[in-house]
Amino acid sequence: MADSSGNKLVETASPSDFSGFHHWKNPDHQSIGETTLEFLQKLSGPTHIHISGKDPSRARAVVTLLHGNEPSGLHAIHEMLKQPVEPAVDIHYFIPSVDAAKQAPGFIYRMLPHHKDLNRCFTPPYNESGQDQLAQELLRILTALAPECVIDIHNTSGSSPPFGISTFMDERHDALVSLFTHRMIVTDL
Ligand SMILES: [Zn+2]
Repeated sequence: MADSSGNKLVETASPSDFSGFHHWKNPDHQSIGETTLEFLQKLSGPTHIHISGKDPSRARAVVTLLHGNEPSGLHAIHEMLKQPVEPAVDIHYFIPSVDAAKQAPGFIYRMLPHHKDLNRCFTPPYNESGQDQLAQELLRILTALAPECVIDIHNTSGSSPPFGISTFMDERHDALVSLFTHRMIVTDL
């Protein structure tokens, strides 16, 4: 299938009602809209955007909009896509909760009514819900890509300064979090 600008959107093979991530490679500047809300409207369901880097043997991943009411990460991705910059390595953006975010007036619903919280679907027990399958699809793709790092961007529902959460405390995770904030929480969740 293709979106309105002619960019190819390829659905991954999937069982029954589960359609997986749409794959969108190197979207051009004309196809991503002027605002974050316009960008959201260009997306048709869970989306994996692949940006080619100078060294395609390396990859880094960014996940955001696991929750449809947390738009900051999508805004950041949209701003990055507007930049005429070829990244050093391949970049993979994963934007799962597009359908929830699109519910009018936009970015209000954490998840669709009667759907599970996607961010609670990454550990067993897994079931057959679309959210569980989407989480497992994301894990399958990330495992296959073997990126150097994965960043998952959220907004908090409370009022707090920005902070990073890591399950490991080492120099690399410390360096990664320090790109965003000097506050780092280490927890095995
Ligand atoms: Zn969240």
